[in-house]
Amino acid sequence: MNQFEFHTTEEMLALCHKHKLSIGEIAKRYEAERSGKSASAVRNKMKQTRDVMYDAVKKGIRSTQKSKMGMVGGDAHKMHLALKKMPDMMGNKVTVRAMSYAMAVGEQNASMGRIVAFPTAGGAGVIPGVLFSCAEHFKAGKRKLLNGMFCSSAVGLIIAEGATLSAAKGGCQAEVGAGVAMAAAGLTEMRGGTPEQCFHASAMALKSYLGLACDPLGGLVEVPCIKRNSLGCMVGIGASDMAIAGVKSFIPFDEVVLAMRNIAKIMSPKIRETALGGLAVTKTGNMIKQKLGMKITPMDL
Ligand code: SF4
Repeated sequence: MNQFEFHTTEEMLALCHKHKLSIGEIAKRYEAERSGKSASAVRNKMKQTRDVMYDAVKKGIRSTQKSKMGMVGGDAHKMHLALKKMPDMMGNKVTVRAMSYAMAVGEQNASMGRIVAFPTAGGAGVIPGVLFSCAEHFKAGKRKLLNGMFCSSAVGLIIAEGATLSAAKGGCQAEVGAGVAMAAAGLTEMRGGTPEQCFHASAMALKSYLGLACDPLGGLVEVPCIKRNSLGCMVGIGASDMAIAGVKSFIPFDEVVLAMRNIAKIMSPKIRETALGGLAVTKTGNMIKQKLGMKITPMDL
């Protein structure tokens, strides 16, 4: 077993205490150990990841291009413009910007742009949305932002090992839910929260997404995916705020992950990326199926 290897929250917390390091630092060292690369090479790889993510955000907030089916496109731009007239908004600058960034990534994905599937393509908006917007707010240096990303990665790894990151196996709890949990922890680390607080944030975030159906219209990662990512930023930031304020998850993160695994096991295949249930079989969903030449699915009520 590698010195920095972890599979659960419990193991990660033990490593953090033993080495007096943050979750992000342990994750970075584990990746270096596992891949046989130097810590600086691993850090550089994460920098490249960050740059691709930023690029998608920058392109997305400028774009007004619609996706091929016309279901999405241009909303990130609208949200970004809304930042200029904040009195009309109930959210603050950080949350509105986070939502616009998350939408930007989803819209880029829908129009064949380059994104980072962090943790998956469907859930790729929340982490850049939350981490980049908050980093801009408190002018976090590069090191802080990268550590937040490493911390998010560690949470993703724990979910992947204990449950799943596949919507085909676990529904949207495994994509957007995982992304929100990862973002909540990463943000908490960026703000100087303890490793325990990071996991309380991810536990509170993931609990809010347990059982979420994967029911995309026409099987395309557009509706409801992009707006789910956008609104997921609010939950991620809120969960981090709760953890920083001292609120604890009554159920530890490892147990929440096991609950997610249990729900995945008993979830109907109709709401696991098959477009056979939920929003995908609404009147609007079936209209999209028809346009795509897919078989219409009657709603099972
Ligand atoms: S609805 Fe399905 S395809 Fe869309 S983000 Fe969620 S898991 Fe991914």
